[in-house]
Amino acid sequence: MRQSVKAAVIGAGVAGLVAARELQREGHRVTIFEKSHRLGGSWVYDPRVEDDPLGFDSDREIVHSSVYLSLRTNLPRHIMGFSDYPFRKIGDPRNFPGHEEVVSFLNEFAREFGLIELIRLETEVVRVEAVVDSVWVVESRTSGVSLEEVFEAVVVCNGHHTEPRLANLPGIERWPGKQVHSHNYRIPEPFRDQVVIMIGDGPSAHDISRDIATVAKEVHLSSRSPDVEVSKLNNHNNVWQHSKIDQAYEDGTVSFQDGISIRADVIFHSTGYKYHFPFLRTNGIVSVEDNRVGPLYKHVFPPQLSPQLSFIGIPYRAILFRMMELQSKWIAQVLSGKVHLPSKEEMLADVQQHYQRMEECGIPKHHTHRLHPNEFEYLDWLAAQVGVLPVEERLREIYWQVYQTTSSPTGHTFRDEWVCPTQNGN
Ligand code: FAD
Repeated sequence: MRQSVKAAVIGAGVAGLVAARELQREGHRVTIFEKSHRLGGSWVYDPRVEDDPLGFDSDREIVHSSVYLSLRTNLPRHIMGFSDYPFRKIGDPRNFPGHEEVVSFLNEFAREFGLIELIRLETEVVRVEAVVDSVWVVESRTSGVSLEEVFEAVVVCNGHHTEPRLANLPGIERWPGKQVHSHNYRIPEPFRDQVVIMIGDGPSAHDISRDIATVAKEVHLSSRSPDVEVSKLNNHNNVWQHSKIDQAYEDGTVSFQDGISIRADVIFHSTGYKYHFPFLRTNGIVSVEDNRVGPLYKHVFPPQLSPQLSFIGIPYRAILFRMMELQSKWIAQVLSGKVHLPSKEEMLADVQQHYQRMEECGIPKHHTHRLHPNEFEYLDWLAAQVGVLPVEERLREIYWQVYQTTSSPTGHTFRDEWVCPTQNGN
């Protein structure tokens, strides 16, 4: 017989919404806790930035979203929908729409599947703890009032683009300039007439550099790869591409491995984020070490606490919306007893094998949840668990084509020039 559980979902971003839909579809009873006043998670633009621009102070007031005003998606909408609910044009007709369009899409999705009534807005989860076998206490706070409730399953969907991760720069302690993490970037104006160094290789580093270059004196992009030669970025008179930073100095200069030194006003860290679960009490069973959340079987279930505790959205570099949908289906079906997990020992052994393979290939620990280049292997594995068709071939084709374009620093106009490579793309 299929089992129905009382499930708590933490967060009403993409992960929390699709989790709630799949859990409900499988017959579970769902409550979504959302600390902000709106659904949509990271995609909801918040003009505020935090007081501590590098996020060192753990008592600072946290602003969840890292979205900047000019942000457009870095994947086309064709691969940002769900298997039976495509991301159609709502207000912004572009293939790579702005952040508001994603929020509109998520609102429509939530309305369509009756998720709005499951969400408790402005309700922050402050503690999640197993009391006895299969019974979890979720303590939440709404307008300063605490409430403890009991659930049979907790699905963690709190996102991982809020806690800054910083580059280690020799000499930075004595460097006198200003430092900011991209989490705290919204608009270019504060950087007017400044000389800015941007550390990072990802789409945000490139986007923010171009954004800032509209008002800054100079922007110097520093990439991790050692073989980058100093060069001006296409179509920009004031943006240079450099290799890695060598050293920062007390007199305000910064030297790059390409031999160039410049005096800069700002160092910008577009260097990623840390996983963070401040509410989770598991007696050390689940921990975060050097950005490895573990142990997690297939990035979802901690073997010793499964299936009552699970995580959605931990891996990155994939067609993320579809990945989160598949993870949600898997969790929902495991909780209902339709799909079975291996034994705890087998799951732990699988996790260890994953770590060992990483070590043998020289992959650093902080890349534990990076799927590339095996993103579709993972999605196919999930699809097989829940008995659905694998992600369509044409979406894979779009993904790889876009992946190659966005990895190129000269591809800044790709969003508007992009033509869908597949016949039925639109
Ligand atoms: P989030 O969207 O972060 O949602 C988490 C939710 O949990 C939030 O609403 C938060 O308020 C809530 N929450 C957190 N803690 C608590 C708590 N204790 N109690 C209650 N509620 C809580 N992905 C793409 O597919 N395409 C893109 O083009 C793309 N571009 C991106 C650009 C940037 C700059 C960034 C940072 C990310 C981008 N991503 C993109 C990845 C994006 O983050 C994911 O697509 C997706 O939004 C992640 O959803 P999530 O639900 O896991 O997390």
